Amino acid sequence: MMLAALLALGGETYLSKEEALRLVFPNGEAVVERWVDLDADVHRALEERCGVSPARVQLYVGHRDGRIAGYAMILREITKTLPATFIVGVDAAGVVTEVAVLSHEEHIGGECRKERFLRQFDGTSAGSNFKVGGGGGLLPMSGATMSCNAVARAVRRTAALVKLQFVDRPANAAALLRQEPARRKKFLMGSFCEIAAEADPAVIEKAFDAVKRVEKAISNYDEASELSRLHRERSLEAGPDLLAFVADSLRLSKETAGAFDPTVAPLVRLWGFKDGKHRVPADAEVEAARKAVGMSRVAVDGRRVALPEGVELDPGAIGKGQGVDAAVAVLRAAGVTRAFVDFGSTVFALGRWPVELRDPFAEGKSLGVVILENEALSTSGGYEKFFEKDGRTYGHILDPRTGRPADRAAGASVVAATAAESDALSTAVYVTGRIPEGRSALVVRPDRSVEVAEPLRAKFRRAGE
Ligand code: AMP
Ligand code: MG
Repeated sequence: MMLAALLALGGETYLSKEEALRLVFPNGEAVVERWVDLDADVHRALEERCGVSPARVQLYVGHRDGRIAGYAMILREITKTLPATFIVGVDAAGVVTEVAVLSHEEHIGGECRKERFLRQFDGTSAGSNFKVGGGGGLLPMSGATMSCNAVARAVRRTAALVKLQFVDRPANAAALLRQEPARRKKFLMGSFCEIAAEADPAVIEKAFDAVKRVEKAISNYDEASELSRLHRERSLEAGPDLLAFVADSLRLSKETAGAFDPTVAPLVRLWGFKDGKHRVPADAEVEAARKAVGMSRVAVDGRRVALPEGVELDPGAIGKGQGVDAAVAVLRAAGVTRAFVDFGSTVFALGRWPVELRDPFAEGKSLGVVILENEALSTSGGYEKFFEKDGRTYGHILDPRTGRPADRAAGASVVAATAAESDALSTAVYVTGRIPEGRSALVVRPDRSVEVAEPLRAKFRRAGE
């Protein structure tokens, strides 16, 4: 009864979505649907001009011969108490070409769909006067002022959005027509590396070549690597990748007061994490191996790197990060602005990408999502590689100060400008259970509590919140 009465009162549908799109793109243009994350400043400007606006919008892009013909948005606006749906079409230069009403739920005000009112929007743009009546730029339909206002709001917002996000920023417009990113996957540095990029796949191959180049320099599994040669010869003139590894390691081990320290190599071997023959060493063995630990033992003079006898470097906690940075450098040099380099525990987002963090206590369960933008994220966890002996678990990340598996964290994630940094720091936060001052990071403690450092809070959303 109630429903029948409502239906009788109004609620007219005039056009389907397909019909509306054909009105906006009448010349056989191809139309693609896109979801767009507005640039932060564009979103702010829209909120200021047009009131509360979504940061992510759905739009339709008409194109022909690889060029954008125009944009269409379908908007729902409240007229009096019920919504109406409008389509607004804007050409590639930001000029309004079409406005039509798809549905109007309120039983009065439907006259806003009359041509006499709607044609007034033709040729308007972001700078136009969209005020209806009272000396404004638009004459209302009598008896339909609220609905006319709602149409004007929709047109005004669409015109402003298209102008700010696309007309003023041609790179954003070009990105709309790009195909899905190309994806390639390769086994490198002992794990799979996947690169997705809005780029020619040949560029992705070059990015992989850069990762291979870094691997060739700093692998501790490849006898022919430059690092293996350093371990044999004790002193050499290092190439740029080996030198970067040593310099970054010196800097980051200093920042973390030695929690991250690649000279843990003899300890990693002692516990059997290098060859997979896991064992719990005797205290005396741990003490003996600890004697060779400490980055301050590594000497750098210009390009010459020297290691005292017994000192050895394990690139495991920073190498993939360095590989990711090398790949990103190739992508950037090729002008790529949207790509995701995924090395599992270390990733880099060119452009804006959401990344899910796993709950260290439950495989397949999410801890939350981090929104990355032109930055790297690394995660360290004891669950990645560990062994069990006599009911105890021993993780692969060692505390250089005790020579034993670190146990102050269950997982640690760090966001940083470079992947080498995020990689080294996530290992350090895992070791200490503490986040260095000013760093964008979170740590999951063994008691399952989660600390999110202030700089990360704006980018992280906890699962279920
Ligand atoms: P990640 O997964 O990036 O935290 O790196 C862990 C790997 O780095 C281990 O598998 C070891 O090869 C090595 N490693 C273990 N403990 C440390 C440490 N405290 N500092 C630097 N490297 C470490
Ligand atoms: Mg690391």
